[in-house]
Amino acid sequence: SGKFFVGGNWKCNGTKDSISKLVSDLNNATLESDVDVVVAPPFVYIDQVKNSLSDRIEIAAQNCWTGKGGAFTGEISVEQLKDLGCKWVVLGHSERRHIIGEDDQFIGKKAAYALSEGLGVIACIGELLEERESGKTFDVCFQQLKAYADAVPSWDNVVIAYEPVWAIGTGKVATPEQAQEVHVAVRDWLNKNVSAEVASKTRIIYGGSVNGGNCAELAKQEDIDGFLVGGASLKGPEFATIVNSVT
Ligand code: 13P
Repeated sequence: SGKFFVGGNWKCNGTKDSISKLVSDLNNATLESDVDVVVAPPFVYIDQVKNSLSDRIEIAAQNCWTGKGGAFTGEISVEQLKDLGCKWVVLGHSERRHIIGEDDQFIGKKAAYALSEGLGVIACIGELLEERESGKTFDVCFQQLKAYADAVPSWDNVVIAYEPVWAIGTGKVATPEQAQEVHVAVRDWLNKNVSAEVASKTRIIYGGSVNGGNCAELAKQEDIDGFLVGGASLKGPEFATIVNSVT
């Protein structure tokens, strides 16, 4: 449902030189036209990327502040991101939840503010390994979803990224069936708790060890509407392969 969406989350990687190479590889790649393609560079390189990357690819930030800028040392405001040409922001990533300690309420606040200012939100959810093993996958995902639902006035500009934490950066990709099962459950939750329209329109993308070799099988699943890619997005040709896995 919806246009296939592939995001590259570069995380805290890169230098001016390596990013210049990555941008030129992306500019030279052939990308299927019927796919929304977004990359999320580290804040400090957003301007460099915006000024050198083809307009075919939109730019996301990896985080933002909860409201207007001001006396918030070390933070970056939504207005500043828009000033640099960002169209999206990644929120609720598991690294920010579990390493930095962001909670549902804080993430919800950011999502609401970003949307109110016209940025699209890539809203991440996903369970830890011990949560999956104790049968809590759906509970955890639904609780994270509810926090977004309670905060956001509209889902029009939201893409949900299901990223099981045990699959992120581990090389242990979810099987197509495992991912599909959660994507269906998420859509079902939206149907029951938001609306049938939001459930059918909202894109639900998968993230966690997606690469050029496993993307095609995942992309075949009915409810996988794209990918959020970490490590493999740092290689232009492989990222292009993932974009082009649209079916
Ligand atoms: P990897 O693709 O490196 O597992 O990272 C996934 C991710 O966290 C994307 O946001």
